[in-house]
Amino acid sequence: MTRLGVREHHRFEAAGKPYLYLVPSAAVVGLDPAADMVMQVLGSGAKTRTDLLALAGGIYTDQEMDEAVSDLLTMRAIGPLEAPQPMPKILPLTPVPLGTMVLNVTNQCNLACTYCYEYGEDKIVDTENGAQPKFMSIETAKASVDFMLKEAGEAKSAHLTFFGGETLLNFNVLKETIPYARQRAAEMGKDVDFSLTTNATLLKPDVIKYLVENQVGVTISFDGPPEVQNKFRVFHNGTGSYDIVAPKIKELLQKHRNRPVGARVTLTGGNLDVRTIYTHLTEEFGFREVGFAPVTTSSKREYALDEQGYDTMLTQFTALAEEFKEAAIEGRHHGFSNVKETIQEIHQGMSKAYPCGAGIGLMGVSTSGDVALCHRFAGSDEHKLGTVRDGIDRSVQAAFLDSHHLANKTDCSTCWARPVCSGGCYHEAHTRYGDTTKANLHYCDWIRSWTDVCLRVYAEIAEKNPAWLAQFDREPMAEKVS
Ligand code: SF4
Ligand code: SF4
Repeated sequence: MTRLGVREHHRFEAAGKPYLYLVPSAAVVGLDPAADMVMQVLGSGAKTRTDLLALAGGIYTDQEMDEAVSDLLTMRAIGPLEAPQPMPKILPLTPVPLGTMVLNVTNQCNLACTYCYEYGEDKIVDTENGAQPKFMSIETAKASVDFMLKEAGEAKSAHLTFFGGETLLNFNVLKETIPYARQRAAEMGKDVDFSLTTNATLLKPDVIKYLVENQVGVTISFDGPPEVQNKFRVFHNGTGSYDIVAPKIKELLQKHRNRPVGARVTLTGGNLDVRTIYTHLTEEFGFREVGFAPVTTSSKREYALDEQGYDTMLTQFTALAEEFKEAAIEGRHHGFSNVKETIQEIHQGMSKAYPCGAGIGLMGVSTSGDVALCHRFAGSDEHKLGTVRDGIDRSVQAAFLDSHHLANKTDCSTCWARPVCSGGCYHEAHTRYGDTTKANLHYCDWIRSWTDVCLRVYAEIAEKNPAWLAQFDREPMAEKVS
């Protein structure tokens, strides 16, 4: 008789009930007590259907057990014992429409943040050797727009993000690029949505007016209270930037009402007070969304996160995620964007073969017009996919997709968190291991624990206020640019 065993899953509890995260399908399913018992029994070893019924005698009726087994078979949580299958390696058919293009309009910055991945000790591109211009020209910016609209293919909309260095050092190019992109897109029956990332030092009234009038989305790199912001986010002479940026940020937040302005916080070994930062940014400033990212750096740096740092970050994230959950259940807004992004992926059943859209639906353009995997690699010859003038070298892109597929990451093949993580950021892998194809095994415990927290938040919201999740049925996943 056929013996049944469990298929790859992660069990968790939410709102007092057991749930499964089914790894192959990335689905979340609730279990009734009989189904939970079947999973627990099969978890300790394969059994036949008859064995299962006998084991449950006196606890559940044969009919309850039969139904539980049938349901679990249908959802593929259990199945006949089979030899382990290798992970399928299905490469995307290229060209994939380009949804987000990040334009590095300058590689210069008026701040000298110690931990910066662009200028700090772990930088990839030498921006001072003259190989890349310091500022993108309007011709290159326009060629980039033409490239983006062509690469968007049949898609009706594209997203253009301006990035730096400090983006607003090249505000003139931004101002010329936006109307050009609008006009070219309209001629092709498309829409373009615009955003930028800035350190806020150059947010003068005329700049703010322009961003408001043109509905440009803004993300501000800002670390929080003065003692935190001034620790790493300093001018070239070493003075902190808090007093300069704080009034400008407040003015922007007060005037830019047609799109949410987000804050992007870099967490370092000595700066992990997530709760204090979140409160400062939302209550003192009025940011609607706050996203936190651990610093990308070699483990040697004194500001790198060590194991204890990841533990602290998890504790703090978990507390904020609890608050987020309570708010969602009561239909209130909460601005902790890290949890929102992950539960959006869970809700949409995302199972990623690649950790992000880099090199597929997202690309970064350097000041010279070289096209790279993403903005963090813009200007790196090693990570170049083509140029905006000559287009993408499809053989280079195909080789990238082949070598970076999740199926190549053997350590990930048995990890239940792989639909969400898929090995993690290429830039992080490059900084840690010198190789973008490597899985980021230094943060697996953190990723799995955080995914578990997000699953529990998701399931409890689904249980208590499912209507709140409908927003993710409408919203396409936006590529995160940080
Ligand atoms: S990097 Fe670690 S957490 Fe991420 S999928 Fe691979 S094994 Fe899992
Ligand atoms: S996750 Fe990493 S590789 Fe992907 S777009 Fe972001 S920075 Fe680039």
